Amino acid sequence: MSTPQFFKRSILATLVSLACMSAPSQAQTATSNQLVLESSTMDLKADPCTQFFEYANGLWLKNNPIPADRSRYSAYDEVTERNMIALKKIAETAAAGHDQHRAAQLVGAFYASGMNEAQIEKEGVRPLDPTLAKINAIHDKQQLISMIAALHKQGVNPLFGFTIDQDAKNANRYIPQLMQGGLGLPDRDYYLKTDAKTKEIRAKYLSYMTQMFGFLGDTSEVAAKNAADVLALETRLAKVSLTKVELRDPQASYHLSDLAGLQKLTKSTPWATYFSGVGLTQPGQINIAHPKFFAEADRLLDRVPLDQWKTYLRWELLNTRASALSSALVNAHFDFYGKTLAGTKELQPRWKRVLASIDAQAGEAMGELYVAQFFGPEAKAGVQEMVMNIKAAMRDSISKLEWMSDVTKQQSYKKLDTVMVKIGYPDVWRDYSGLQIDKGSYADNIARASEFEFKRVLAKLGKPIDRNEWGMTPQTVNAYYNPTMNEMVFPAGILQPPLYHVNADPAANYGNTGATIGHELTHGFDDEGRQFDAQGNLKSWWTPQDEKKFLLRAKAIERQFDEFNPIDQLHINGKLTAGENIADLGGLKIALQALRQSLKAKPQAAEIDGLTPDQRFFVANAQSFRSLIRDEMLRMKLATDPHAPDKYRVIAPLANMPEFAEAFQCKGDRSPLRQGAKRVNIW
Ligand SMILES: [Zn+2]
Repeated sequence: MSTPQFFKRSILATLVSLACMSAPSQAQTATSNQLVLESSTMDLKADPCTQFFEYANGLWLKNNPIPADRSRYSAYDEVTERNMIALKKIAETAAAGHDQHRAAQLVGAFYASGMNEAQIEKEGVRPLDPTLAKINAIHDKQQLISMIAALHKQGVNPLFGFTIDQDAKNANRYIPQLMQGGLGLPDRDYYLKTDAKTKEIRAKYLSYMTQMFGFLGDTSEVAAKNAADVLALETRLAKVSLTKVELRDPQASYHLSDLAGLQKLTKSTPWATYFSGVGLTQPGQINIAHPKFFAEADRLLDRVPLDQWKTYLRWELLNTRASALSSALVNAHFDFYGKTLAGTKELQPRWKRVLASIDAQAGEAMGELYVAQFFGPEAKAGVQEMVMNIKAAMRDSISKLEWMSDVTKQQSYKKLDTVMVKIGYPDVWRDYSGLQIDKGSYADNIARASEFEFKRVLAKLGKPIDRNEWGMTPQTVNAYYNPTMNEMVFPAGILQPPLYHVNADPAANYGNTGATIGHELTHGFDDEGRQFDAQGNLKSWWTPQDEKKFLLRAKAIERQFDEFNPIDQLHINGKLTAGENIADLGGLKIALQALRQSLKAKPQAAEIDGLTPDQRFFVANAQSFRSLIRDEMLRMKLATDPHAPDKYRVIAPLANMPEFAEAFQCKGDRSPLRQGAKRVNIW
């Protein structure tokens, strides 16, 4: 099942950011007024006005080579790495059976099955045999669709995506959502572009598939033919898939219909068979997010021979489960997705991979054990206070906007006042009773956990909106804004040093976590989020004039980022990254205002390490984005990630903020400040 909440916007790409892990105790490292800002990692020889990223991070960048098992290394990865060790301990204790807590039993058994390398090696691809036999037995289109439904239930996603999620235009109800999908490469462009790099990746994808089919016993000729068939089929799906930029328009992914309408659009697809296969007898109204895609999928179901479909389903199963199988498959999968696509040098050790897998499959069980040790009420209270101050600063900033009319301002306040905030971990833990996890087959545990999750999501249909649900696990080092819920969510994992410290200098906390809070809040008002109202409905609340003025400003930030050229001939895609860039700029501005307000109430030392509060604020922000990235990963991010590379997330907003030039007294040629109409000023 595809990720719910598909308009959800995070501070980092979920693609690169760690399906997993976090943090040390707030209590164990707390000292009075500790500075999160790390002056020892700065390069004071760099000019803050012209080389701010290096000034704030120079020594860190020099002294922290990317670990061999990572494609990038950042402040977020530091937290992740350090805390994986803590989670390893939790999982090991649980696996040894010393903890009778139900979550511990689940995590312990899952971990033990994943660490049982001898058993996993012995099994080879055998865990897939029952499903492969069913695929092999398909004789007609009805059975094919039935099998697609069965695979979707197991967390394998051939052909298209299906989930139950909020109706974007009536956010008070859940409806089934059908989305484009079915691709093995990271984006449609990988199938269609003709430059040398992309062609090379496609050739390697073909040899990876050929190798994998070999593991199922295909001869090399048959395996090569199968690989070519899969690539041809996926390419046809890619051609009718929306681009990443098109997907940022929520209207483009909204087409309300029902079973009859769906059947009219796609005459050859036996949808009743599909829905009964997934366990939905009455789907009711349905969002066909991408009708053009489904029309083509329907044609393909009619024209592509059944044997090729069976090959494609085998491929989807094999590729999805590869990393839970024996080392030959794990290595082949890593060689392509890790090395070729992301530039990672070495496979992560088994324990890290198993923890990531538990995080993805039953992450809240692990979260329950994690927060008991690593997240206290004082951290929650500290963040709550920052959220309050940042919301107040946002309100104040809106009230002073010259370009926005009073009518739209009133609606903005309404949205701002309604935004929900979740901090740390869910109020009610997810109930995993009914999920059978044992110390036997790791691949079987994953299949059962996927099916359990599928059923959990399916059961939402017809029920009231679950306001308690979390789209990230508590240990995740990330945060998000969800427009259909009008909520922002900060897992315990991101509220850890060096990203947040309950006793830190406020300038450092506001520059770091404060800017993240501002970022998520601004997502409700970026080019995409602004199209949703206070209740989470996709419904315009803007006057036409204000909308026009907003779009002009959004265009300016697009142009600013289009100019950046991080590698080869590749530029940042201003349109793809607009929402995140608007959020970064808005978040930084309102966090600074909030800091200044809070210092009026609780004055701090004027200077620490020779830096004023404003200077420390900007340095802390730049330090939160410190990172190194491999070239391959950078290329993939530029093609697929709505976030700009980290360095540009630091320097671009500063070029639009007179407050920065003032803080570091940047004048004349040394001032990075953009002039006149080029300076972006939105929120
Ligand atoms: Zn974001």
